[in-house]
Amino acid sequence: MWAIGVLTLAVVPLLSCENRSETLTMNPYYSRTDTTVLNLPDSTWKRILPAEVYAVARKKATEQAFTGKYWNYEGKGRYYCAACGNSLFRSDAKFASTCGWPSFFETLRKDGVRYEPDRSYGMNRTEVLCGRCGAHLGHLFDDGPPPTGKRYCMNSIVLDFEPDEPTKTVR
Ligand SMILES: [Zn+2]
Repeated sequence: MWAIGVLTLAVVPLLSCENRSETLTMNPYYSRTDTTVLNLPDSTWKRILPAEVYAVARKKATEQAFTGKYWNYEGKGRYYCAACGNSLFRSDAKFASTCGWPSFFETLRKDGVRYEPDRSYGMNRTEVLCGRCGAHLGHLFDDGPPPTGKRYCMNSIVLDFEPDEPTKTVR
């Protein structure tokens, strides 16, 4: 399992461009430049999103801790919503969290996300949703590091990472 994880991390930067074009083909609403708010019916999301993205983004499932592709990823770049392409976080705001999910202390833009109170499972939490498409991304907690003290605890599966520079192979 560990070997598979390492392999996945190693190939992600190399495959990121191909992954993106695949997403664009399947999902006509995916855009990293268009900020128009999307109000699509659940049936549309079910048709255009991969099943595992749909389960988290639209059905608010939570991926298992320490299993997602970005929980301990340290690449420099930007994180986008995997459902619509909205820019969400910079890697500069990512910190090593022990919780097993990718964690950030601030968003890239104030209106990049929106918040809803979440009282499910007998807890009092703040849900974080994509500001463009309303996808469930994760939760916000007050136990993060300086300068904000916030911890955006996200699901890897609803994030798309784009590195700052294309990966070059040095020989
Ligand atoms: Zn989105």
